[in-house]
Amino acid sequence: MSGSYGHRLEFGTFVTPVNASPDTPVALARRSEALGYDLVTFSDDPDQPAHLDTWTLLAWVAGRTDRIHLAANVLTTPMRPPALLARSAASLDLLSGGRLELALGTGESDRAPGGLAAVEALGGPALEPGAAVDALGESVDVVRAMLDAGDPAPVRYRGEHHRLDGAAGGPLPAHHIPIWLGGTDPRLLRLVGATADGWLSTLDPATPDAVRAGNKLIDEAAREAGRGPSEIRRLLNVSGRFTDTRQGFLHGPAAGWVEDLLPLVVEDGVGTFILITDDVATMERFAREVAPALREAADRALPAPLPRTAARSGAVRARRRPGIAYDELPASLADRAVEPGDIDYSRVKSNYLRGGAPGLVLRPRTPAEVADALAFARAHRHLPLGIRSGGHGISGRSTNDGGIVLDVGELNGIEVLDEARRLVRIGPGARWTDVAQALAPYGWALTSGDYGGVGVGGLATAAGVGWLARKHGLTIDHLRAVELVLADGRVARASETENPDLFWAVRGAGANFGVVTALEFEVDEVGPVGWAQFALDAGDPAGLLTRWGAAVEAAPRDLTSAIIMGPPRMGQPAVAQVMAMVDSDDPATIVAQLQPLADVAPGYDQQVVITSYASVMANASDAPHQAQGEPISRTGLITHLTAEFAAAAARLLTSGVVYFFHIRSIGGAVTDVDPDAMAWSHRGSNFHVTAFGRHRARLDALWDDLLTEHLSGTYLSFETDLRPERLTEAFPPRTLARLRTLKKRYDPDGLFRDNFAITPDTASRTTP
Ligand SMILES: Cc1cc2nc3c(=O)[nH]c(=O)nc-3n(C[C@H](O)[C@H](O)[C@H](O)COP(=O)(O)OP(=O)(O)OC[C@H]3O[C@@H](n4cnc5c(N)ncnc54)[C@H](O)[C@@H]3O)c2cc1C
Repeated sequence: MSGSYGHRLEFGTFVTPVNASPDTPVALARRSEALGYDLVTFSDDPDQPAHLDTWTLLAWVAGRTDRIHLAANVLTTPMRPPALLARSAASLDLLSGGRLELALGTGESDRAPGGLAAVEALGGPALEPGAAVDALGESVDVVRAMLDAGDPAPVRYRGEHHRLDGAAGGPLPAHHIPIWLGGTDPRLLRLVGATADGWLSTLDPATPDAVRAGNKLIDEAAREAGRGPSEIRRLLNVSGRFTDTRQGFLHGPAAGWVEDLLPLVVEDGVGTFILITDDVATMERFAREVAPALREAADRALPAPLPRTAARSGAVRARRRPGIAYDELPASLADRAVEPGDIDYSRVKSNYLRGGAPGLVLRPRTPAEVADALAFARAHRHLPLGIRSGGHGISGRSTNDGGIVLDVGELNGIEVLDEARRLVRIGPGARWTDVAQALAPYGWALTSGDYGGVGVGGLATAAGVGWLARKHGLTIDHLRAVELVLADGRVARASETENPDLFWAVRGAGANFGVVTALEFEVDEVGPVGWAQFALDAGDPAGLLTRWGAAVEAAPRDLTSAIIMGPPRMGQPAVAQVMAMVDSDDPATIVAQLQPLADVAPGYDQQVVITSYASVMANASDAPHQAQGEPISRTGLITHLTAEFAAAAARLLTSGVVYFFHIRSIGGAVTDVDPDAMAWSHRGSNFHVTAFGRHRARLDALWDDLLTEHLSGTYLSFETDLRPERLTEAFPPRTLARLRTLKKRYDPDGLFRDNFAITPDTASRTTP
């Protein structure tokens, strides 16, 4: 093939891993990063006494740089057992935030004519050149098997040179680590075509056709292996000198370099030029005068401009889902989008409670990128669209099967806007544990949920019932302004004075009106709190529930509590877990307020501490969500835990259908707000009840039969039953009518329809 392989044009530096001091190569790597190079590489010559070990240097440089990618040029592979190499690579890739690339070679180039290869001298295997390439091919297989572990099954491999008997996969790297092979041996070139992601060679001006000849062999081998030649990036080490007048190939002014390199891009498809130099002035001149001019010249000379984003391999493309125009993703999103074949996919496909298999996960970082993502989603109306912040949605609709997920997890800033007013701006991707930690040094807290891992975006657009609810109200009661991207891509701000209707709707039904990109809250002064956990005898579940409910209702607003019960367990006493927070740092007040709770049943265990709100919320794991299957829950709101309700709840608990039964207290400050002030209007409810089961139909039947008659409304954040009645329970008729009118104004085509869709009121007149 002649012509471009369609890869983004990239530039790197090739630094000698030794110099006046060990810091020199590190400084050159940092300079390369500052100059905008994509890649810094170091030679790996284990026979050079004064050279730093390349892998150790890569790790050190990874810690001293932020953005630039790193590789050996090239790694003497036989000196590194491939399974260990894969583990080292995955670890360094994770530690560096996805910046490691693997360039592997046989070490044959270090063989002195007629002498020992460096590999042998160092005690490595003595192989003929052909066998060395075979061994390298096996190393690639092993490294791939280990790096693509995603699947935790032990790796087995039986080759002539390498063998694994159930090796543990090792950590999953942060990105798909490409494997480039370095060398010019025809057998190696065929291996590149058959398996590698890139070919790395050094330009020798004496043999200008070598690149083309190498490409030919690689392309043939790629086709024989059923691959497209464009899957293989061509990387070329180049060196030269800047001089005022043109003196020869890569010896002249920058314009001459561009002229010399352009045919290699346009005719030979080189995608990466790596400048061999330890000279800072040369690095600077190349970065400032050659690289940008070469990009522009290539775009002019080629039939279509080169992409600005990395191309995906055939293996990744093969796993694409139907109906998604992957290649039409805007450049702003393409680099960070995750497809089913991408290494990151297992980290982003599922939620905390629901397994997912989306066709595409978009990860915008700015409102403008959210607007781009929504434009893409509008062009894919036939597919589900999940909006994700923290991934804890219990309905699980922030992931899907085969659709698009718009994940704003990285919009997670927390910033104090006005210390005097305690005004704080928070990104939807922040988690409540992060919020609590950030506010603690000010002596502040924002009433949120009970689990620190939950995201701000989902909870603060729904209600927010947590440990400070009775004293400080719901999370939405503290919202003062919100910024969101609407279905048509417009960026809007809503508050009591800006788009007040939208502000009303977002506080309870936010998921239906846009993608929230920032929220501004007025937070409270909250000092140390009393935090109690009791294990109580639940042998009389109905009696326990009524007594606990009465004690909570009678308690001062300082106290907020929750009770968790499970089904009876064979041969073991029934135990309920009661938790409570008292917003006071006075031990006597705390004990006085907790005593009535402790008295509702005989106790097995109790623990009371005075601690910070942030420490109670520090209960979340940082691990990626790995849920499988569908969560099954039902939920509702209730004013009092009457004897009739408690008897029905006890029957539910002994039915064998429910494995987790949870009641949280609301009431108190929550009741101070006018029910019409926001879309969440259940201000009279004192409790929120949830049951989780394993069987959808059986849970629905029992819940509908036993509990529904006692409930007055629901809180959709805990609901997984998607039948339309749930919407009418969540929003009383007047509220729902207003929401439907607003839905027509802000999302008339129902782009946001996946999580309890409100249908637009087609009869109402639209106000622009
Ligand atoms: C372990 C656990 C404990 C919980 N505890 C509490 C609790 O104590 N109190 C409480 O009130 N709730 C609680 N919840 C429920 C929780 O509030 C909701 O599930 C909430 O939606 C999760 O928000 P998220 O951003 O993490 O979820 P995600 O799954 O990211 O989002 C859930 C839904 O919210 C909407 N959404 C998400 N981000 C945005 C956005 N930026 N703009 C517009 N809409 C968006 C979408 O419709 C999405 O499907 C808990 C959930 C779990 C799993």
